[in-house]
Amino acid sequence: MIGGGLAGLAAGVALAEAGWRVRLFEQRPFLGGRATSYVLPDGEHVDNCQHVTLGCCTNLEDFYRRVGAADKIKFFERLLFLDPQGRRGEMRAGILPAPFHLMGSFAAFAPLALRDKLSIARALLDILRTNGNPPDLQQSGGISMLEWLRRRGQTQGAIERFWRVVLVSALDEELHRTDAHFGVDVFWKAFLSNRTGYRMGVPAVPLSKLYDGCKAEIERRGGEVVLRSPVRGLKIENGELAGVRFDEGREETADAYVFAVPHTALTELLPVSVKQSDLGLKNLDKIKVSPITGVHFWFDRPVMAEPFVTLLDATTQWIFNKTALYGDSNGAGKSAHGGQYLQLVISASYDLLPKPRQEIVDLCLKEVRQALPAARNAQLLKATVIKEPAATFSPEPGVDRWRPKQQTSVRGLFLAGDWTATGWPATMEGAVRSGYLAAEALLRVAGAPHKFVQPDLEPDGFVAMWLGKQSTASRSGGNGSPISGI
Ligand SMILES: Cc1cc2nc3c(=O)[nH]c(=O)nc-3n(C[C@H](O)[C@H](O)[C@H](O)COP(=O)(O)OP(=O)(O)OC[C@H]3O[C@@H](n4cnc5c(N)ncnc54)[C@H](O)[C@@H]3O)c2cc1C
Repeated sequence: MIGGGLAGLAAGVALAEAGWRVRLFEQRPFLGGRATSYVLPDGEHVDNCQHVTLGCCTNLEDFYRRVGAADKIKFFERLLFLDPQGRRGEMRAGILPAPFHLMGSFAAFAPLALRDKLSIARALLDILRTNGNPPDLQQSGGISMLEWLRRRGQTQGAIERFWRVVLVSALDEELHRTDAHFGVDVFWKAFLSNRTGYRMGVPAVPLSKLYDGCKAEIERRGGEVVLRSPVRGLKIENGELAGVRFDEGREETADAYVFAVPHTALTELLPVSVKQSDLGLKNLDKIKVSPITGVHFWFDRPVMAEPFVTLLDATTQWIFNKTALYGDSNGAGKSAHGGQYLQLVISASYDLLPKPRQEIVDLCLKEVRQALPAARNAQLLKATVIKEPAATFSPEPGVDRWRPKQQTSVRGLFLAGDWTATGWPATMEGAVRSGYLAAEALLRVAGAPHKFVQPDLEPDGFVAMWLGKQSTASRSGGNGSPISGI
């Protein structure tokens, strides 16, 4: 196993459970890859960026369970939105069954005008009618989410204050550069097909603490985790991966290899001959990346009571109250000293990349003080800006064409990583799915097939009844539309 991010850890734990002796090599001194945390010189634990999951991320949930981290994720059923005029809106399931469970809070959502809500309802209905698979998503090369919304006559308010707000955070890309199938899938799986898919899970500990159980699990089953061990090259003989090279000419061999490194790192490692001969590996450089910026503020006093809030019409997209989320956990949020530690997230932050850090701090502080009145008189004790220029792969229209499967044409070489073919965007869920898929591919080739990938959440409420009716109709020769995506 090469790479100790979520994909490599998921594949490693799965294969160890299947009885393989797993050796995992990670170049950095810690596990978790892009979803990790580190300790500042003053002892403060800082996530490289706030990470959240949703109720519909069934494989990530399964992975956390396997490694004993499930109880370190707090789930919230209320999502709060705030606009610069101080109007609040929330999403919270009411008593109605899916797909109407969020209808009450949507109807009362103050930052949206009635005409915005009507246009949104029309587009959501279209997703529902087609079981999350509107026919124009099949267009070759894909269409952008913005184009899909325009075809459905969405108002500017609906686009800016609803679709963009949800999707830029979920997919880390602007609507005109997002394949509509990813955008529609978010709404189908998280908001429409069942009551719990939208629930937001936030780690109650710094991210790196979620992986303590992975190393233990691999070692308990006879394997090992080797940190500070970058792979420098692949030894390919007669179409087979015969070994991997490390620094100082050291080589390691294994029965099979899973490369769970970012696609940009894999392109540099692969010999040109392999890239030219394997159709799946030929186009890795066509997969683009998009940035996320995290801003960390430490105030001298509490400025926010909510665990998190989404800002509308602002550069800052989310504010997380890390002091409240961490509670008393292990020194995290330590330097808050009776004050408060907030973390801000800006996805698809292309405009911020060239800006000096102080300018970003000033801009975000202004927005925080506008949104949270208590912050206006509070003193900012410390601030950090973390720019991740290649945070995720860009889910641009047609990108799935370039994402390789986990099994390659090189014997013994398997791939994992959020960028491989999972059908999911670049998320922790996508990374874990890819790891499970790589483990499944490897075991299939070894002649001992095993299933790790978990099914999506079952549709419930009226959606389940509707889908049940459709499948009965199609079984009895009816012409109901095909059930898809579940
Ligand atoms: C700022 C930011 C915010 C995000 N927010 C969210 C969020 O809220 N929710 C969500 O679901 N997802 C989020 N993501 C996406 C999520 O972090 C990734 O999709 C996921 O962590 C990718 O995991 P991975 O294992 O595929 O890749 P990585 O995490 O990149 O792991 C690859 C590993 O390979 C190692 N490696 C590379 N080259 C070598 C080599 N030659 N030898 C040995 N090791 C090597 C790397 O050091 C790394 O540990 C965010 C990402 C970022 C950057």
